[in-house]
Amino acid sequence: ASPLLSVQDLRVSFRTPDGVVQAVRGVSFDVERGKTLAIVGESGSGKSVSTQTVVGLTRGAKVSGKALFEGRDLLTASKEELRRIRGAKIGMIFQDSQSSLHPYYRVGWQISEMIRAHNRKVSKAEARERSIELLRRVGIPKPDRRVDDFPHQFSGGMRQRAMIAMAMALDPVLLVADEPTTALDVTVQAQVLEVMADLQAEFGTALVLITHDLGVVADVADEVVVMYAGTVLERAPRRELFYHHHHPYTEGLLGSLPVETDMRRRLRPIAGSPPSLIRPPAGCPFHPRCPYAFDRCRTETPPPRQVDANENHQSACWLPLDAAGRDEARANIGT
Ligand code: SF4
Ligand code: MG
Repeated sequence: ASPLLSVQDLRVSFRTPDGVVQAVRGVSFDVERGKTLAIVGESGSGKSVSTQTVVGLTRGAKVSGKALFEGRDLLTASKEELRRIRGAKIGMIFQDSQSSLHPYYRVGWQISEMIRAHNRKVSKAEARERSIELLRRVGIPKPDRRVDDFPHQFSGGMRQRAMIAMAMALDPVLLVADEPTTALDVTVQAQVLEVMADLQAEFGTALVLITHDLGVVADVADEVVVMYAGTVLERAPRRELFYHHHHPYTEGLLGSLPVETDMRRRLRPIAGSPPSLIRPPAGCPFHPRCPYAFDRCRTETPPPRQVDANENHQSACWLPLDAAGRDEARANIGT
């Protein structure tokens, strides 16, 4: 079966006073029905811009590529069509600080309006009942009372749950969650992720989870895409990524770079910062920070290649692709 969403060679650039920022530089990934794809990367890696562009939320950008959603290319869809698809087919959850809950309106009313905006046949009373049920479903205590609260009367974790309720209100086939738990403390974070996973299992919703935190990925993702400097460096099933990653950047994210005696290096596993996207480095975008970089890395950009005979695992790195060859090459470069 074809994937629910297939993003192909997506490129997004913005004109700024300093020059053209190439925020996304040829990104491809698929989202399967009912599955969770995690997109991981540091801030500025292009992970948010990619997904926001796919759902039509970037403005003033130059965009190319394809984003086939149920066969329809979202990049050529009209604003009106995209508005309909967002909400009805694709639910969105953002970080609490960019909450899509309006501070002046009651939480339940906002969820009800969301339901009624897409289906006027639903009465106000029905929409309210549905809102209470949704709030119950995401674990808000006493939902029949809390439904009339304003967002500020909710804790951060409850606001995130309410946002999930709102995103799920129209029973979407795809949920896009951009750093949904970043603003929350670790315990609440785990609870919110669990709510999302439960709903997903119950409704068969696919999830694109954008995060800078590999810990968040570990329990929920089926597949992982690692982004850096507007490109995909590695893409693999979760287990494969954690236990048999290929790319040095992934290795760095997982904190398994060769142990250094320098404490700063320990506290910050990957030294240096991501490159400028106005003038991205030649060759491999990671080469200025890569402990294994060799001559070829500075001039030629490695294309994504299949790792260890696993067709679902790709890495964009010049190191040998089989485990033995890779370890040997690393040992040689390292000394
Ligand atoms: Fe490092 Fe070279 Fe691989 Fe880039 S291509 S990650 S610089 S070894
Ligand atoms: Mg972001």
